[in-house]
Amino acid sequence: MAIDIVNPYDMAISQFDEAADRLGLSQAMRAILRKPKRELIVNFPVRMDNGDVEMFTGYRVQHNINRGPAKGGIRFSPEVSLDEVRALAMWMTWKCAVVGIPFGGAKGGVICDPHKLSRSELERLSRRYATEISILIGPDSDIPAPDMNTNPQIMAWMMDTFSMHKGFSIPAVITGKPLAIGGSEGRLEATARGVQFVAIEAMRDLGMRPEDCSVVVQGFGNVGSISARLLHELGCKIVAVSDISGGVHNSNGIDIHRALRHSKEHGTLRGLLDTEAVTNSELLELPCDVLVPAALENQLTAKNASRIKARLIIEAANGPTTPDADHILNDRGIMIVPDILANAGGVTVSYFEWVQDLQRFFWAEHEINDRLESIMTRAYRASRAKADEQDTNLRIGSYLLAVTRVAEATEIRGVYP
Ligand code: NAD
Repeated sequence: MAIDIVNPYDMAISQFDEAADRLGLSQAMRAILRKPKRELIVNFPVRMDNGDVEMFTGYRVQHNINRGPAKGGIRFSPEVSLDEVRALAMWMTWKCAVVGIPFGGAKGGVICDPHKLSRSELERLSRRYATEISILIGPDSDIPAPDMNTNPQIMAWMMDTFSMHKGFSIPAVITGKPLAIGGSEGRLEATARGVQFVAIEAMRDLGMRPEDCSVVVQGFGNVGSISARLLHELGCKIVAVSDISGGVHNSNGIDIHRALRHSKEHGTLRGLLDTEAVTNSELLELPCDVLVPAALENQLTAKNASRIKARLIIEAANGPTTPDADHILNDRGIMIVPDILANAGGVTVSYFEWVQDLQRFFWAEHEINDRLESIMTRAYRASRAKADEQDTNLRIGSYLLAVTRVAEATEIRGVYP
């Protein structure tokens, strides 16, 4: 693991400032967009299986809601902090704007280690947290979704809790639900499918053919494992994958279906047949054409950026590259598809799920995937065109598009009263 950790909110502010400078945003607009609109901190008790009561702390932050209701996932992790949630909420604002869906940005999190909780403790924690943040969430105001260590079952408990308090079912309050209660076809794979669509575009821009590309993926959860499978289906050779316990490597290619089975059966990738073990930091520096960080923030830093071998980095995780590393990688001519664009497939299909729930009218999987493809491809090309026009990189190109859209909405709505 890289150790020169940058506060994610400082990272988000520095990325925004760079875009704001280029756009020549007014001081007032800068001041508005730099700050989250609302921050809720909740401390709440959960009864554990042994009868003890433990206190937990959670957050829900709405960064900006000028383009529509707040939207953003919920993360369960011991590392959750208010600054992390603020950064993730701000990135959601730009992400929704860059793909042009009518949402603002939000994020939530609870400080906990879900792997140490029993299923019933996890259920009680999820339901109580949903109750605590119910003063903010709702189908017209703020719509959560899954993120790290949360999943469709947890979304179901939260949706049920919110609905119980109202007395009737409100599926549109949350996305990433199981299909049986108003989830959308394709949502589970959506973030990874978006990664696949932008990978196709980026490879084409770089003159790379998928079948000639070797790929390293960090993180083997929802986003990482499905990205690895979809890039394999595209023809790429997956040479290394990892989870929190470390990575596995084979320069001749990993059997991705075996890796998926192994991870499911053993809860870890360790010991996968025909692979050698590597640490998560070694994994990032392996020879490959494409690197897909799909775990957490602060992975590509000033310490390791000069040793990265990939020609193309696709940020499936949020905030994996520190601003210093970003400059080093750009100077080295390595192309980065930034998080706000690369992982926007998840929120895009969340938008489809919300629309389907509100209309009580559900679409077939091919319709979801086709619409996702056209939105992701359009957003990639618009970001690329903006970057080329301004003679800059794709991250700044995406930010220029996104910040312009949010600033325009904020300007038109005006300052009340
Ligand atoms: P997940 O909980 O399903 O999987 C996380 C994976 O990362 C697991 O394999 C875990 O073992 C691994 N991991 C955790 N800590 C690690 C560490 N210190 N080093 C290496 N690996 C580690 O989470 P996810 O939903 O796949 O989210 C992964 C990333 O993608 C996060 O940054 C998240 O914000 C982002 N993201 C997720 C979605 C989504 O729809 N789920 C959408 C957009 C962005």
